[in-house]
Amino acid sequence: MQDMRFEAPKTLEAAVGLLAGASGQARVLAGGTDLLIQMRGGRVEPELVVDIKGIAEMTSVAADNGTYRFGAAVPCMALVENKEFGKVWPGVVDGANLIGSIQVRGRATVGGNVCNASPAADTVPAMIAAGATATIIGPKGRREVPVEQIATGPGKTSLAKGEIVAFFSLPPRPPRSGDAYLRFIPRTEMDIAVVGTGVNLTLDEAGVCRQARVSIGAVAERALLVPDAAAALIGTKVDAAALKNLAAAVSAACRPIDDKRGTKEFRIKVAGVMARRAAEIALDRARRSK
Ligand SMILES: Cc1cc2nc3c(=O)[nH]c(=O)nc-3n(C[C@H](O)[C@H](O)[C@H](O)COP(=O)(O)OP(=O)(O)OC[C@H]3O[C@@H](n4cnc5c(N)ncnc54)[C@H](O)[C@@H]3O)c2cc1C
Repeated sequence: MQDMRFEAPKTLEAAVGLLAGASGQARVLAGGTDLLIQMRGGRVEPELVVDIKGIAEMTSVAADNGTYRFGAAVPCMALVENKEFGKVWPGVVDGANLIGSIQVRGRATVGGNVCNASPAADTVPAMIAAGATATIIGPKGRREVPVEQIATGPGKTSLAKGEIVAFFSLPPRPPRSGDAYLRFIPRTEMDIAVVGTGVNLTLDEAGVCRQARVSIGAVAERALLVPDAAAALIGTKVDAAALKNLAAAVSAACRPIDDKRGTKEFRIKVAGVMARRAAEIALDRARRSK
């Protein structure tokens, strides 16, 4: 194993400077629940590891005029325990609350989940359905990208050398909105999603769906936004016919692999079922929200 340099800067600018200036492989360390396992297994051997957990603006959760912003180094457990955040974005909390065990969630971050780029990452479909954007800071400045544009394939992202996801923003929530994330695993917990689906919708006063976003995880090389599935809900009262159309659109968007945890056919079928159930939960939450 080669020598490794560990740095724990206190500002984003210093972190970007360190990453951009590295001559060999450099990695951001957030919770380390993916990175340390990869390093121990010899899959990555960074020359430089930059711990971002000491950067104040990356570890806070704040609401401003209805827009929630949370740092990429906020542990999942901090989101799960934030009651105000959970009232507004229960589906994002569904995703964060499924990661590993309580101990893992105490370290693991949404930023790490997004940047690790596993197709089965649990917070990613929930964040995509929520319409979350990431603010990325790097040597060339700052840019905003929708979360669905960060992972490009298993373990691959659109981040350039020296770039860090600094924080995430979630748009203001209209009244009568609800979101939900559901996954299928063969066990009851501590497993990787075989299928994941996120649904986020807004109703008007008559109970008609006016906005929707639907996403899928673990059924393609990265989590996907499925506009056809959202279109199946918009303009309806999210009734049985709309849910059937939603399930069909979700299944049609899947392009999964076969593996020991599920065949292609199984994943395609279950994705439709999970999307329908997630939509029912999101609908119930929208009806209860003010
Ligand atoms: C026992 C166990 C159970 C797990 N269960 C689940 C599960 O159920 N569902 C699930 O989705 N995952 C699960 N995971 C995987 C892991 O916990 C999550 O992916 C977690 O969210 C990773 O976050 P982290 O902060 O630990 O990331 P880290 O390990 O610190 O980083 C992961 C990767 O992202 C990069 N990175 C991190 N933050 C940034 C940033 N801000 N900007 C740019 N790059 C960044 C790192 O360089 C690294 O390449 C599990 C892991 C373990 C050990």
